[in-house]
Amino acid sequence: MARVYFMDMREESNMNMLTLFDRLVDVAGGLGILRRRSPAAIKLHVGEAGNTNYVNPNYVRRLVELIGKAGGQAFLTDTTTLYAGRRYRADLHIEIAREHGFDFAPMIIADGLYGDDYVEIDNAKIASLIARIDTMFCVSHFKGHLNCGFGGALKNLGMGCSSKGGKLEMHSTSKPFIDESRCKQCPTCLEYCIHGAIKENENGVEIDQDACTGCAGCMAVCPEHAIRFAWDAASSDLQKGVARQAASAVKDKRVFYLNFLVNIAPNCDCFHTNAPMIAPDIGILASSDPVSVDQACYDMVKEPIDRLHPDVDPSEQLAYAERCGVGERKYEITGI
Ligand code: SF4
Ligand code: SF4
Repeated sequence: MARVYFMDMREESNMNMLTLFDRLVDVAGGLGILRRRSPAAIKLHVGEAGNTNYVNPNYVRRLVELIGKAGGQAFLTDTTTLYAGRRYRADLHIEIAREHGFDFAPMIIADGLYGDDYVEIDNAKIASLIARIDTMFCVSHFKGHLNCGFGGALKNLGMGCSSKGGKLEMHSTSKPFIDESRCKQCPTCLEYCIHGAIKENENGVEIDQDACTGCAGCMAVCPEHAIRFAWDAASSDLQKGVARQAASAVKDKRVFYLNFLVNIAPNCDCFHTNAPMIAPDIGILASSDPVSVDQACYDMVKEPIDRLHPDVDPSEQLAYAERCGVGERKYEITGI
């Protein structure tokens, strides 16, 4: 049975939150994954432009300091998005990370400038930097999610550690296509696609669905956002995809998980609009098991999450991740 450590923010304490956070990381043994003078990735979500629910940078800064004092060398990382927001290309993603206060440590986008830099691990397109790193702190904001019911550590691993193409495979049952109403027939995508899947036709350009590998890099290079895809994966398939990719993302790694059960919004931090919270702040949970830490969070907010998305069964991602060997659902909780 995995152990989950809990920093309860609902209790009064004569210690400040950051000192309590230090204690949480210490008691949970988080720094034990470090190797001296070796890089340690902090995988996080810096929030889409206009979103304010993402993990407070003060905690991440503190984590960077703790890692430094323990002899490690921390950097921040995330991957490019599939949709055309401010984080769809690495340079713009780093820009918004700084605007949101994540300016105290180097930030490296794990799947490269266009989101097409990946390594196949057990048929999953994992961002190449994630594939190479052996030490990772997975910092996740636990909240509701339209298709998965909730998003926590498993989503941060499965979706958040995949390249654009990996995300496409989870969200869509088909390959990208050209939206002719937006296409200005510049040759950018044609020159970019090394698989020769983009071809000229009488109306401009088209994607040969058989030749396309689904890397999704062309979506990031198109200046008109004319390369689109269908968000048509069913919830169950999406959750299984997330669990499968999570298994590949953590393979042969030492990972420590911190789930922030605060700002519990109905939707993920990719949303640029804010909606009322579905539950009050609860606290921060830590574990070396991503399934247990997500299960513990879900158990604490099951009622509002289930009410929010009655047609989605979020326990599918937990059950499937357990079957993939990512972790276990049974846990024991320890207060700090
Ligand atoms: S890069 Fe975009 S605008 Fe240019 S040809 Fe390709 S789809 Fe059309
Ligand atoms: S057309 Fe397909 S293979 Fe070519 S860049 Fe786009 S997604 Fe990748």
